[in-house]
Amino acid sequence: MKIGFIGLGIMGKPMSKNLLKAGHEVVCFDLNKSGMDEVAAAGAKRAASVADVARECSFLITMLPNSPQVRQVALDQGGIADNAKPGTLLVDMSSIAPLAAREIHDGLKARGIRMLDAPVSGGEPKAIEGTLSVMIGGAQKDFDEAKPVLATMAASVVRVGEIGAGNTAKLANQIVVAINIAALAEAMALATKAGVDPELVFQAIRGGLAGSTVMEAKAPMMLDRNIKPGFKIDLHIKDMGNILETGHAVNVPLPLSAAVMEMMQALKADDLGGADHSALVRYYEKIANLEVRRG
Ligand code: NAD
Repeated sequence: MKIGFIGLGIMGKPMSKNLLKAGHEVVCFDLNKSGMDEVAAAGAKRAASVADVARECSFLITMLPNSPQVRQVALDQGGIADNAKPGTLLVDMSSIAPLAAREIHDGLKARGIRMLDAPVSGGEPKAIEGTLSVMIGGAQKDFDEAKPVLATMAASVVRVGEIGAGNTAKLANQIVVAINIAALAEAMALATKAGVDPELVFQAIRGGLAGSTVMEAKAPMMLDRNIKPGFKIDLHIKDMGNILETGHAVNVPLPLSAAVMEMMQALKADDLGGADHSALVRYYEKIANLEVRRG
């Protein structure tokens, strides 16, 4: 199938390469040339604009930072709504606000364009392996059409409800991930200051109830003092903003999410917005005057 792919950042590059590996034709676009160079070298065709991609392909994927970028690409002049053929299916795999997903869907529907919201979990390593988890909102028949394509990038593709539901599931995912990383950072800080090697603590507890996918991915990064993203603090702040806004809209207090949001804001103020979210450990290092590292 010919697939238009817009947004070739940390996630979009490996995802589009997996589509190529599966035998699909990919027409790609990003504002940033280096992303396009890498995906074109793997066999994709470059487009000159969003409009070009939308005119050429009737199956489109977007993997952009947040709601404003998806809204711009989908609905602004020169975007998908203006240029795609009626019947086109847009699968937005970015993590955006559920309300924005519904508004963008409605704007496209007025032009006869279909949309699923299909954010992912798993991060760059799973994007490379093609083992992402995709959570989808939208019409069942559109889901059935998209599923075989998405399965070439993912280990799990689950429809959770109507449009916007995919991003609600993603917000739930991001609450668990953020609070888990903060808990791990807090535990590593305690072990270090109490004089116990945090690496041995990790080895001792990883197989018990405290063990988690987050611990397996992030404890080694904390111990190596590696803050290369992965998933940037700035993007997680964006998700925490969407989480708190959605919580307030449906009247659910989210005290733990609010606390971790402020820890992330402190890191951003300290110029660590571009660091991996495991840099939450740096917050504890600063307030407790310590350094977490291998013993
Ligand atoms: P990124 O910042 O690396 O990539 C985003 C890309 O979008 C950039 O290359 C940028 O140039 C491009 N872009 C922005 N505006 C554009 C426009 N108007 N037209 C064309 N291209 C445009 O971000 P990422 O880490 O790849 O994340 C993308 C999405 O996936 C985000 O919503 C993020 O929350 C989500 N996500 C990321 C991870 C992760 O581990 N990185 C994991 C799960 C979900």
